[in-house]
Amino acid sequence: MARIFCVANQKGGVGKTTTCVNLAAALAEAGQRVLLVDLDPQGNATMGSGIDKRTLERSVYHLLVGLADLPAVRVASEPGKYDVLPANRDLAGAEVELVELDRRENRLRDALRLVVNDYDFVLVDCPPSLSMLTLNGLCAAHGVIIPMQCEYYALEGLSDLVNTIKKVHANLNRDLKIIGLLRVMFDPRVTLQQQVSAQLEGHFGDKVFSAIVPRNVRLAEAPSHGIPGVVFDRASKGAKAYMAFANEMIERVKTL
Ligand code: ADP
Ligand code: MG
Repeated sequence: MARIFCVANQKGGVGKTTTCVNLAAALAEAGQRVLLVDLDPQGNATMGSGIDKRTLERSVYHLLVGLADLPAVRVASEPGKYDVLPANRDLAGAEVELVELDRRENRLRDALRLVVNDYDFVLVDCPPSLSMLTLNGLCAAHGVIIPMQCEYYALEGLSDLVNTIKKVHANLNRDLKIIGLLRVMFDPRVTLQQQVSAQLEGHFGDKVFSAIVPRNVRLAEAPSHGIPGVVFDRASKGAKAYMAFANEMIERVKTL
């Protein structure tokens, strides 16, 4: 049975997509069967997996509004060795259309039922909002992975996200839990980052992943080649950190 995880944080530019794409590729590298779901109309996870969002005939939009079934939407990431439910701007329209539909928060969960036995991990890349799309991700998932930068304001945004997760847990999805916080774009030379990192460990304990992803230019370059960072330059510090994170996830799911 696939374990389904959302990569979420309502702030933009915090490393959600980079985490989703690289975790998917690192898990695949470790022999896991992975499906990545792009729930962001920006389609960055799609492009970063080597799939051209501009030429898609069908996307996750069609799946959510019931115009296509999952096998018709799914494509393979060749460089990543995982499957993708891709997205593009069409998905922006889903936000409004979903409101009119039955089981509007559960459209993704219902669609994924078909393939739970085909994968070990399903990773959902959420948009930078607490919208109907993110809600679909949270309702489908067993857990949430929260990437964050160790900055002062990071903690402030976190409480909104944690409250949303609590509400979804209480009202819509009893399975949902926070799997962990992943420190990304980390620069150990910055004292404030060390302080916030220590604060996170103090406050969230073992909910903070041991793996720490450094700021690494190879991870930022990889998407322009349509190749996940862990494949683009496997010797880079960023790639090694995501490989370590993938191993940590493989261990952590055993305890769920
Ligand atoms: P989000 O999906 O939360 O909006 P992204 O993953 O797209 O965030 O990251 C935002 C920007 O930061 C992108 O340009 C990405 O390439 C860059 N980035 C992400 N993680 C790292 C990292 N560890 N080191 C350097 N650049 C990074
Ligand atoms: Mg993104």
